[in-house]
Amino acid sequence: MQTVFTPKLCIECDACVDICPTDCITFTENGEELDLRGRLTAPSLHLDQPLYISDALKTGRIMAKDEDVCLHCGLCAERCPTGAWDMQKFLLEITHAGTGCRKPQRKAA
Ligand code: SF4
Ligand code: SF4
Repeated sequence: MQTVFTPKLCIECDACVDICPTDCITFTENGEELDLRGRLTAPSLHLDQPLYISDALKTGRIMAKDEDVCLHCGLCAERCPTGAWDMQKFLLEITHAGTGCRKPQRKAA
């Protein structure tokens, strides 16, 4: 399950921020990534993990969610009064075998 955010439905009531057990949702001004990461509620420890940044909201702020910290528990979607957060199914396909696991190609005689 993945959290999907629809900015036009958000009324910036902060209910999702209050319920999130990991503090991974932050409503703030937009900015350069490093500056933005420094303003997240939960410390951003793994810079290689992407942030989920929304389009601008009615107040001009954005919603930032650190995917490194999100548990995909769905509490934000349950709490949201407008349906701005939605839990949706997605399929993640990852290749586990690298080139070292492949059979060597036979050379033509
Ligand atoms: S799914 Fe859970 S952990 Fe992730 S943003 Fe929502 S409330 Fe927070
Ligand atoms: S609970 Fe819903 S409407 Fe309120 S701030 Fe969060 S996403 Fe926006």
